[in-house]
Amino acid sequence: MNRSYNQLVSLEGDLREAISKDQLSLHYQPKVDVESGYINGLEALVRWKHPAKGVISPNEFIPLAEETGLITRIDEWVLYEACRQNQEWIELGYAPERIAVNVSASEIQKDDFAYKVQRILAITGLAPEYLEIEVTENSVMQHTEDCIRTMQYLKSMGVSLAIDDFGTGYSSLSYLRQFPIHYLKIDQTFTKDVLTDPSDAEIVKAMIRLADAFKLGVVAEGVESEEVLAFLKENQCQFYQGYYFSRPLPPEEIVHLLTKQSVY
Ligand code: C2E
Ligand code: CA
Ligand code: CA
Ligand code: CA
Repeated sequence: MNRSYNQLVSLEGDLREAISKDQLSLHYQPKVDVESGYINGLEALVRWKHPAKGVISPNEFIPLAEETGLITRIDEWVLYEACRQNQEWIELGYAPERIAVNVSASEIQKDDFAYKVQRILAITGLAPEYLEIEVTENSVMQHTEDCIRTMQYLKSMGVSLAIDDFGTGYSSLSYLRQFPIHYLKIDQTFTKDVLTDPSDAEIVKAMIRLADAFKLGVVAEGVESEEVLAFLKENQCQFYQGYYFSRPLPPEEIVHLLTKQSVY
């Protein structure tokens, strides 16, 4: 107990240093159109390269950052870096893609969050239609009123919004209708077993129909095989993400998957 507490405290100190010493970086994973196979956006995922421990997964340090309040600076850095990188690619002549950034519950709830986004867009020069914000279903359910206000403001600016990890939370359909969102992302816990678990298959089909009824785009996460992709195609899911197409990759590798814009 004591030892793990001490480890946590030392990890927190390391994380403070990581932010100031450029140990964080972003990897990017394509979101792909099921029907055409074309890339339709990228998701930015943070990585921490610890000098002694190697690469630490966000599943380990994001919860710690949320507990200690360091998440504010991490999410701000990620937002800035994703926008900066995307604008750089656009200026280099790549066909523009929308870049999706994950934002923690504590941040989307803040009154000034939308202003922060606006400021970062202004600094980096990225047009708002090339930014998407992902918030988990549970985070918008925590402070629904504040979140909806912030989301409405972001939407009016032209930023897209997605509900992440859909199906794992506890929002009701009436809430879903109030959220000013553009995409639902079906959590990978459902997607991965569609071929072996009939109830997961039914849940995924229902979520696809639900998104269609609410006129939302739908993205299935965690697609690792051709067979799962075929299931999604058969059931008219619009987009997918997953190792089957590509793992999250560092910027120098992801550019090989982006298309150059015609200059004519
Ligand atoms: P998420 O937003 O649900 O991201 C999807 C996770 O699934 C990523 O893990 C991704 O690498 C992984 N993944 C993608 N395709 C597949 C697949 O086919 N199979 C499997 N098994 N996994 C796949 P990652 O990068 O480790 O991120 C974990 C979580 O950490 C994210 O879940 C997100 O909640 C959080 N996170 C990542 N980056 C950030 C960030 O910049 N800010 C905040 N607040 N949270 C972040
Ligand atoms: Ca996400
Ligand atoms: Ca997710
Ligand atoms: Ca997740």
